[in-house]
Amino acid sequence: MSDHDHTHPHHGADHVHPHGARVDGGGRPGALDRRSLLRLGGMGLGALLLAACRSGSDGADGTAGAPATTLPVPSSGAPGSSTSGPATSTPPTSVPSTVTTLGAGGTVAAIGGFEAFAPTVAVFAEGDHWIVESDGMPAHSMMTGITSWQQQVPVAQPYRSANAWRFPIRPRLADQPVSARTGLFRGAIALAVNGVPIFNALNNRGDDALLAGELDQWGGHAGRADDYHYHVAPLHLQDRVGPGAPIAYALDGFAIYGQQEPDGSPVRPLDDYNGHLGADGVYHYHGTRTYPYINGGMRGVVAVSDQVEPQPVTKAFRPAGTPLRGAVITEFATVAPGRYRLDYSLGGGRARVDYEVSGGSVRFVFTDVNGATRTEVYSR
Ligand SMILES: [Zn+2]
Ligand SMILES: [Zn+2]
Repeated sequence: MSDHDHTHPHHGADHVHPHGARVDGGGRPGALDRRSLLRLGGMGLGALLLAACRSGSDGADGTAGAPATTLPVPSSGAPGSSTSGPATSTPPTSVPSTVTTLGAGGTVAAIGGFEAFAPTVAVFAEGDHWIVESDGMPAHSMMTGITSWQQQVPVAQPYRSANAWRFPIRPRLADQPVSARTGLFRGAIALAVNGVPIFNALNNRGDDALLAGELDQWGGHAGRADDYHYHVAPLHLQDRVGPGAPIAYALDGFAIYGQQEPDGSPVRPLDDYNGHLGADGVYHYHGTRTYPYINGGMRGVVAVSDQVEPQPVTKAFRPAGTPLRGAVITEFATVAPGRYRLDYSLGGGRARVDYEVSGGSVRFVFTDVNGATRTEVYSR
């Protein structure tokens, strides 16, 4: 009845980013990639949609030109970005995540929430987008409580440079929203303020991942690229970010709040997308304890292929795990930086996975219920 072939095709190693804006070998992207990202950021929606529908559109259209950035915020100091943004004497640092408005008129997204995770999550403005860099690993523990396990484990991801997360600074409501009930089963649909991506609450079979036992106590698990992500709202982050701050942002740029309105009042009625207009006239979403749990789709303007585009690529470095029926993950520990231990029960016995991530390699030692061990080493 529950084969749990939660195969996560969005994590497949053969997933090639349609814009080619990927990080090769975990290294720094070339200037071309950076320019591509900038150009996309400066293009209008129509052009972006077109770009999302064309494969290999990376450098074909040079007419869009560089974005004429006029935002009164410091531009990113990242290499290759010097052609964008205003000439400014501001040091090349990240925009403080306490920035809440840009004062440039029109609807502006609040960017609160990230500051609670500033040591590990970097946020800066680039053109019309916020860029968020993280390694996708939360400060809280992971994996404990999963009863439907694909034998994947959390490994840090290179969500940085051209492979960083991005969403509009000035989100706009779409004429035709995209529902997560019938689509968006690939890729992330939101990003938590601790730098962990959030996927559709429905897995690729259309089943509720939480009810299927696939999620840990924090609403997450590891996908086929051993990439940790949530499938429900990380409501537990509300205590970290404090009252009034979002716990996540949908990739359309609209904030996702917890179980209160930003002013602390009870959540008012929500639409099919788990959102509504706030008292400030700006749309936002809420996390809920029942489906759809998070944003129920993209109420705002986004470019969509079969997922929201662009978004970071995760690359599997080992063959996809298979469902380990009967396994229950009982404990997970970070033994030392880059060293982890996952314990699980299986058929009355106990087994575990020890693994170490160092440089470009990941070394696993699997210990089965009989105490026998097997070592596997992979390059990333
Ligand atoms: Zn997943
Ligand atoms: Zn609200």
